[in-house]
Amino acid sequence: MDISYVIPVYNESESLARLVAAMAETAGRLPAHYDVEIILVDDGSSDDSWRQIEAAAKHDARFAGVRLSRNFGHQAALTCGYQFSRGRAVICLDADLQDPPDVTLRMVEEWEKGADVVFAVRSMRRGETWFKLATASAFYWLIEKLGAVRTPRNSGDFRLLSRRALDALNGMPERHRYIRGLVGWLGFQAATIEYERRERAAGVTKYPFTKMLRFATDAIVSMSFAPLRLAYAMAVLAAVPFLAYLGYALVMYVLGRRAFAPGWASLILAVIVFGTTILVFIGVMGEYVGRIYEEVKQRPLYLVRGSTRDTPRA
Ligand code: UDP
Ligand code: MG
Repeated sequence: MDISYVIPVYNESESLARLVAAMAETAGRLPAHYDVEIILVDDGSSDDSWRQIEAAAKHDARFAGVRLSRNFGHQAALTCGYQFSRGRAVICLDADLQDPPDVTLRMVEEWEKGADVVFAVRSMRRGETWFKLATASAFYWLIEKLGAVRTPRNSGDFRLLSRRALDALNGMPERHRYIRGLVGWLGFQAATIEYERRERAAGVTKYPFTKMLRFATDAIVSMSFAPLRLAYAMAVLAAVPFLAYLGYALVMYVLGRRAFAPGWASLILAVIVFGTTILVFIGVMGEYVGRIYEEVKQRPLYLVRGSTRDTPRA
């Protein structure tokens, strides 16, 4: 097997027919000697996505389907597809045709030139709400500031991995997978191509705000200790005015002047500032401790309910 495409699918019934046609067309344009497989991972869809995937696999032997036992989320579905794939190069893309399949032809060229990782960077994003664009750019800004991730800005999960890079990625057992970050961590020889991100072909985004927030938390917490270290900075920041205040109080005491007999407001303020700071960082600790717990449990990342091919793993 030369090229594997991995496509996570969650309730994409409306765009699947177009996707299958576009993928068949793109696969046909790859160099003729290449063996191609297109793996569609149904992430617990409740519409007729799986029926359509089965039909595609029956009709065209290049297509294969894997069905998860429930909705495990985009990153888990992607991981499943990655573990199923057998290609010497593996490309993942969205089912909604936001990532134009023909761009993958350019990715394959970069791979042939020796790249292990080919990132596709969005030069333009059409048809996305200002809210999505604003939160996305705030997210990338924060991630860069934290120095946590070494992937190009504005590269999503649309990328090509060589077998060598993919084997390394598949060897990482962690549960809360922020795959972009893991790929950046891998290193190897990377190449970047630009493309225009299109509008969703049909249906609505499967990443509502809450999922995006969870995704962003995973990204930061899985790649960086900075939030934990923030506690020190906060402690220093709080200590400065309170030490000054203490000095002032001592001076006043020595001078025999009881300048702040009421003292109530400052006391309450101190309690509130320290109280909330401590609570925030208990929350931050919780994020990390919770993840340690998840890792220790060693549960599988996903469960497979069925597939159109017998060999579950390469
Ligand atoms: N997806 C998935 N499981 C989920 C959510 C999304 O497999 O729980 C798939 C979805 O079908 C699509 C891809 O992941 O192929 C990206 O999702 P979407 O297009 O909704 O995200 P957006 O492009 O809006 O960020
Ligand atoms: Mg999309």
